[in-house]
Amino acid sequence: MDWVHIDVMDGSFVPNISMGPFIVETCKKITAVPLNVHLMINKPENHINAFANAGADNLTIHIENNPNVHRTLQAIQNLGCSTGITLNPGTPAYVIKDVLPLVDLVLLMSVNPGFSGQKFIPHTLQKVAEVKEMIASINSSAVIQVDGGVNEETLPDIYRAGARNIVAATAIFKHPEGISAGIQALRNSIA
Ligand code: ZN
Repeated sequence: MDWVHIDVMDGSFVPNISMGPFIVETCKKITAVPLNVHLMINKPENHINAFANAGADNLTIHIENNPNVHRTLQAIQNLGCSTGITLNPGTPAYVIKDVLPLVDLVLLMSVNPGFSGQKFIPHTLQKVAEVKEMIASINSSAVIQVDGGVNEETLPDIYRAGARNIVAATAIFKHPEGISAGIQALRNSIA
């Protein structure tokens, strides 16, 4: 299934600044594809309402620097959105154990969040396998998503490790033959 993944950055949780609820609202108007909003921001609990109202279908928050993560995931559910939890490359998988029953999506960052065009961190593959086991052990139907440095070369291993939801920017938007060709190349790499 195709999703639009929207990277929200606040210049504090991550070094870069990107976009806010207004862009989500605009996306909602121009596409029926589900909007997956990745909140790379401090105090996401203060903003989930605005993003849900703007039309987000999934709200994904970070486990790092987030003392209210359990409550915020419950709040996201109450807003009618599906939930996601994210881990930076330096965060071990086991820290999400207690919130895993609350999430529909586990996003494993395979680069340090902030900028596109970075190289895939190979250790992510081990983490995908580890999270896959954690999900299976509680009979959850949560899906593993990988974000960062995904391209035709790295995707086959990521898929084999157990990720079924893939985020790509550079591989799609900077493909020499255009966006459609970029998406097709990714699909072909795991066909
Ligand atoms: Zn993202």
